[in-house]
Amino acid sequence: MQAVICKNKQLSVAERPDPVPGDGQVLLKVLRCGICGSDLHVRQHCDHWGGLMARSGYRQLMSSEQEVVFGHEFSGEVLAHGPKTNRKLKPGTPVVAVPALRRGPDIDLIGLSARTPGAYAERLVVEESLTMPIPNGLKPDLAALTEPMAVGWHAVRRAELKKNDVAIVIGCGPVGLAVICQLKARGVKTIVASDFADGRRKLATACGADVVIDPAAASPYANWKEFGFLPDVPALLELAIGTREKLGKLPLPWWHVWRLAEALGALPKRPVVFECVGVPGVLQSIIDGAPQMSRVVVVGVCMQADQIEPSIAINKEIDLRFVLGYSPLEYRDTLHMIAEGRVNPSPLITGTVGLGGVDAAFNALGDPNRHAKILVDPASAATQPA
Ligand SMILES: [Zn+2]
Repeated sequence: MQAVICKNKQLSVAERPDPVPGDGQVLLKVLRCGICGSDLHVRQHCDHWGGLMARSGYRQLMSSEQEVVFGHEFSGEVLAHGPKTNRKLKPGTPVVAVPALRRGPDIDLIGLSARTPGAYAERLVVEESLTMPIPNGLKPDLAALTEPMAVGWHAVRRAELKKNDVAIVIGCGPVGLAVICQLKARGVKTIVASDFADGRRKLATACGADVVIDPAAASPYANWKEFGFLPDVPALLELAIGTREKLGKLPLPWWHVWRLAEALGALPKRPVVFECVGVPGVLQSIIDGAPQMSRVVVVGVCMQADQIEPSIAINKEIDLRFVLGYSPLEYRDTLHMIAEGRVNPSPLITGTVGLGGVDAAFNALGDPNRHAKILVDPASAATQPA
């Protein structure tokens, strides 16, 4: 079969042996595969990332001199089953799968390890237990977005925000756009999106952002008065001491009233800020700009060391959360939300290429004004994203 291999930072189309499904595994024909920002990153910096993963206990990440086939955001069609499978999904069934594969005692991430090739290829092997039929006649392009959209769904769930909370999304690349789509699906009424690139701001609007901001021209946190946030430490002091003074005028013991108000959820309003950029300095800029008591959910993956000034975050009582991936249930729910039209990620898709166009697509993704998600269609002859 044909596949795109990456070796020593070079991408090329090569002939590879057909993969063979092992115990509990299924062979798929690849229909579409999204190019992920992490693929762009591992191409250049996998040895550094591998070191970071190893420090977290995961030692199977590729190294640069190995031959690797990327691709973990795919849709496909069942071709054949390996031994010890239940074969409920008949050959020809359109499917997606959580991109992980059992290898003895290890679980490999598909498309990020030399021994577990991904879907920049005509065929790939997946785990039967992680494979799900595509419902509702959903097209393979949108089905391939299940994986990145599941990342957005997990982030939104971990943010624990309510419909009336204001969400501020910093960075409108594929990750930020997925978060915006999923906030919309969650019913969040006010979504503020911020990106320097005009093209990405347009995509943010198409995905459902209500307020779209160019941070070169205005602060994404400037509307704190309108939304009722506390801008700074004096405002927080005023709220605390002022509330005590006001409650003292009531005929009831003030502490009972205060406790009751807390039990009813009367807390200062605060936004939930999604960090979807992942470069050094962004976290501190959010800490500097965000209102008091903001919750910051870090979705963008910064792989360099970064610095923050904790005392500013402390002064503001910033609630900082980091999120990773999604669960198989979140993946399954995302697939069904897309198939039922409850979430619409179609604005993300800005181009499609064949295997011979992957290298050009990687270059094109460097321009944030033109592209968000480029899909690989192994059956296409396109050598430029269109
Ligand atoms: Zn990805």
